[in-house]
Amino acid sequence: MRIDLITIFPEFFVGPFDCGPTRIAREKGVLEIGIVNPRDFTTDLHRTVDDYPFGGGAGMVMKPEPIFLAVESIRKPESRVILLSPQGERFDQQMAHRFCSLSHLILICGRYKGVDERVRLLLIDQEVSIGDYVLAGGEAAAVVMIEAIARLLPGAVGDEDSVATDSFENGLLDAPVYTRPREFRGVSVPEVLISGNHGAVAKWRRQQALLNTARRRPELLRNVLLSAEDRDFLLRELGELPAEIKDGECGGEIKKVFEKI
Ligand code: SAM
Repeated sequence: MRIDLITIFPEFFVGPFDCGPTRIAREKGVLEIGIVNPRDFTTDLHRTVDDYPFGGGAGMVMKPEPIFLAVESIRKPESRVILLSPQGERFDQQMAHRFCSLSHLILICGRYKGVDERVRLLLIDQEVSIGDYVLAGGEAAAVVMIEAIARLLPGAVGDEDSVATDSFENGLLDAPVYTRPREFRGVSVPEVLISGNHGAVAKWRRQQALLNTARRRPELLRNVLLSAEDRDFLLRELGELPAEIKDGECGGEIKKVFEKI
């Protein structure tokens, strides 16, 4: 897939795409990243990309023309144009999966007080936020999204099983992980992990994932189909079932919540 960034700060991206799975995905040719600077589409001496807001008030606003021209210089029928904005739909693992099945993403990085509303009204397909806080610009949000997408692309992570068992992949948080030494500052690795019993390890991981989720993010359990065994385990450990699953269905296997289109 290809991801193009519309940004007035191309220098922001020196580095973040040159390490880890993003670098590997680029080297393997499954991910191409391009940068387009709206300043290159201005006609005045100062290459102006911002202006004062109509109606007055604080902050400059990014002008529509350079952004439109920048996007239109690379947009194809199959492109999905996304405006990064704290007001957008929340980015999550499910959205990362949906995006990694597309062939071309264009991410518009706003700055200052934001971009002229005509960009949102006329140019984009979707508005996306990475969380309920305000960044100085969309560049950091773009890096977050690209890293989450890149590691889902084929070959970007050596062991794809590792990705498949990460938090949110089956609706649960991941189980705790340990490595050597067996004992560190008085805390030992759980016996089951060194037992060599793969079935027991898998069961322990499932149960720890359930516990992690019930304790830290119980609302996630609303989207997970729990087996009778899962529910009995949580009841034993917690004394009562979290309110989020009390009225839920009780099935035999985990519901795969993420459609991998
Ligand atoms: N005035 C805007 C508001 O309150 O909605 C915030 C503008 S912000 C200072 C400048 C730019 O940073 C935005 O146009 C957007 O591109 C980016 N940005 C800030 N927070 C973001 C977030 N949580 N997710 C995605 N992009 C964000």
